Amino acid sequence: MHAATLERAHAASTARVAPGSGAHRLKAGGLVPFTATDFPGLLAAVVFVQGCPWRCGYCHNPHLQPRTTASPLDWSDILAFLKRRVGLIDGVVFSGGEPTMDPSLGPAIAQARELGYRIGLHTGGTHPRRLAQVLPQVDWVGLDIKTGFEQYERVTQVANSGTPARASLQAVLDSGVDFECRTTAHPDLISADELLALGRELAALGVRNYAVQIFRPQGCADDALNARGRSLRDWPGEAICAALDRLFTRFTLRQP
Ligand code: SF4
Repeated sequence: MHAATLERAHAASTARVAPGSGAHRLKAGGLVPFTATDFPGLLAAVVFVQGCPWRCGYCHNPHLQPRTTASPLDWSDILAFLKRRVGLIDGVVFSGGEPTMDPSLGPAIAQARELGYRIGLHTGGTHPRRLAQVLPQVDWVGLDIKTGFEQYERVTQVANSGTPARASLQAVLDSGVDFECRTTAHPDLISADELLALGRELAALGVRNYAVQIFRPQGCADDALNARGRSLRDWPGEAICAALDRLFTRFTLRQP
């Protein structure tokens, strides 16, 4: 997920959230007021939800992995900010961390939708049941696929993490929501041949939009990944990229 400048939300207190909704318990670690790159075709704000059960070495937001007792940002303040932005931006992206980890995600999405916003969701698929619950309220999903589902622990450092990821992909496919699968690729974590095999598996499952995001050293705290990750300009190579391109309606290679 993207590194981002985190900004405190300054908001009037006129939009306090009714406690009964549950949205007020959302643990938000940051807010980007404007992005033109995180929700395809739309101008959006990004809400960074706290918490992630996985520990990817390339994580650019490790400060969002733990969930603190008190939320750094108050959802009421974020909602007041979003009310002021109605007409100026089109959508709200819930990102993280891992937003599906938060039980208040659904109520928060509902309140953003009530303001007329389109809803984007960035997820790694850690919590497939909650993901399935919120998908009817979501307009677009960016779903991280870390590597082949049998090899997830290599990236997440959590055993059996490919199981919820695979279930999350199925939930997204079943929902009919517009989505992109994307893989952050580093040769120490997935070989070029494994990347192509993953592409074939995803295409066979019904994925139509796929992006390979080549590892970016900036903001990554893992020295070993950084050491090799500085020279990936020609990786995974033209032949692999051409083969991936043939598998999908839209294939995107994102270079650092
Ligand atoms: S899934 Fe990995 S990259 Fe995403 S927030 Fe969790 S640890 Fe970071």
